[in-house]
Amino acid sequence: MTATLSKILWLIFGLVWFALRLHPGRRSRRTPVRYSGRGWREFALLSASFTGLGIVPFVYVVMHFPRFADYPLIPALTYLGIAVDVICIWLFYRTHRDLGQNWSVSLDLRERHTLVTTGVYSLVRHPMYTGFWLMALGQALLLPNWIAGPAGLVGFSVLFFGRVGREEEMMISAFGDDYRAYMQRTARVVPWVY
Ligand code: SAH
Repeated sequence: MTATLSKILWLIFGLVWFALRLHPGRRSRRTPVRYSGRGWREFALLSASFTGLGIVPFVYVVMHFPRFADYPLIPALTYLGIAVDVICIWLFYRTHRDLGQNWSVSLDLRERHTLVTTGVYSLVRHPMYTGFWLMALGQALLLPNWIAGPAGLVGFSVLFFGRVGREEEMMISAFGDDYRAYMQRTARVVPWVY
């Protein structure tokens, strides 16, 4: 195992994730929105996440910057990172299947939006965010660099903590007691824990 191979693996997982999102992305552009919580705040949160999970690691992998923050590769961490990313990809696949037309990259309620509480949504109410936490963890394990590695955890935590409360309020406003009951019986991202 070498640092180059570890970086290539990060890139491959990123491409698989991107390919997985092509179809949901097209479908979501076709599905009309009835309420949107988008705005400057959402734009800033999404930008922070994209910077940490995308731009910073991409610049590191392609241009090897910032080099000074490198540390020697620890193969066991890379293998762990591969396992985490495999679970992450599986989870993204499942969440997109379960959420179907209700998915959106931001905070939107669609025409004929339904509340999904089955499949992976019966385990936690934000399984896609669980997937993003795993993606960020995978990045930290795969990239042997003190800046590019943890950047995803920092970037995604900005999006997660800045959005999740508002998203739940939006779901309560749309689904009322059904969503409140769903909140009672599920954790946010880690089953039975949080
Ligand atoms: N937070 C969820 C979904 C992320 S996609 C997750 O992590 O899996 C964001 C969109 O999903 C939001 O615009 C919201 O309208 C929608 N959404 C979130 N939870 C949902 C649910 N249980 N059923 C249907 N739509 C949901």
